[in-house]
Amino acid sequence: APLEPVLVDPLPRRGTVAVDVGGVLVGGAAPVVVQSMTNTDTADVDGTVRQVADLARAGSEIVRITVDRDEAAAAVPRIRERLDRLGVTVPLVGDFHYIGHKLLADHPACAAALAKYRINPGNVGFKDKKDRQFVEIVEMAIRHDKPVRIGVNWGSLDQELLTRLMDANSALASPLPARDVMREAIVQSALHSAALAEETGLARERIILSAKVSNVQDLIAVYRDLSRRTDHCIHLGLTEAGMGSKGIVASAAAMGILLQEGIGDTIRVSLTPEPGGDRTREVQVAQEILQTMGFRQFIPIVAACPGCGRTTSTLFQQLAETIQTDIRTNMPLWRERYPGVEAMTVAVMGCIVNGPGESKHADIGISLPGTAEVPSAPVYMDGVKVATLRGARIAEDFHEMVRQYIDR
Ligand code: SF4
Repeated sequence: APLEPVLVDPLPRRGTVAVDVGGVLVGGAAPVVVQSMTNTDTADVDGTVRQVADLARAGSEIVRITVDRDEAAAAVPRIRERLDRLGVTVPLVGDFHYIGHKLLADHPACAAALAKYRINPGNVGFKDKKDRQFVEIVEMAIRHDKPVRIGVNWGSLDQELLTRLMDANSALASPLPARDVMREAIVQSALHSAALAEETGLARERIILSAKVSNVQDLIAVYRDLSRRTDHCIHLGLTEAGMGSKGIVASAAAMGILLQEGIGDTIRVSLTPEPGGDRTREVQVAQEILQTMGFRQFIPIVAACPGCGRTTSTLFQQLAETIQTDIRTNMPLWRERYPGVEAMTVAVMGCIVNGPGESKHADIGISLPGTAEVPSAPVYMDGVKVATLRGARIAEDFHEMVRQYIDR
């Protein structure tokens, strides 16, 4: 029987209105942009400059910083200047809550130094003041020619809107589950705020929307709905994703499904770092989500098998680990010298069962000997066996072959 075609490729990216964030294009036909956020006190100029530079070097293409009080707002232009002097040009986004309108008005140098303002419509003010204060921030964005992200978060959802929708739902003959009403309130909050921003005079090309929740199924439902109802540029992220593997898995599962459906123009992975942990981990995870799904290439992939009872030696795990470290360490230099090197795949396999096959699919691969095999390790380049390594220096020899391959 003829083979039925199966959908395995992502759907085309949804056509959104592209937004220029300090020279980085988000949406439209632009590649999905990786962004991150600092966790330093922005008033601490040294600490914030250091972390922004680290995030940018790790590959964050946009970095958001908290602007929560006068001291933080006053520090923003100094942070921008210091970064420029270091040659770190990454656009800075100001994260505003509650008093953003006031901080932007009182600190014009801050308003000018930022590449985008993030507004949370759920906490920009209360009752009658809410829309007015939202409009004040939008007017500031127009004056300084900046884009805004209207970032709805269900932890700080507009309670008035939610109550109104809940009341209307209760009056229905067959009310919807409360969860559906919550999802609708999130989407409506984003759409209402975007409409208000446009009525105020902000161009559509200056608006990015996000609607973050912490539950994977809710996130998928909310973003699907949002993207059906608007062509605004979309910032995608699972909020409060959590720590360690939980946060990584939840973010990858939720964003992976949406990205596959063409939804999402920029992503942020919101991981809770271990105390004193490395903030750049969230950038690495965001890049890995995009790369493993085939959307972008940032760094050569190391394909390694999990190992099993056929190999009791830890040599192949060690080799996979050191190859990965070698790549991460040398990547800035390699990328400069050999543009396109990030598209490479290196295979490090534990035995003959899948080793040669996987190695042939990679650009360069090695199949280490399993316990019951002859102690030799065939190496493949571009699908062809080029050498068989033996003895105590297999790892060193393979490292050298990888470097030579990249040189070549
Ligand atoms: Fe086990 Fe060999 Fe498969 Fe690796 S390639 S998981 S060592 S059978």
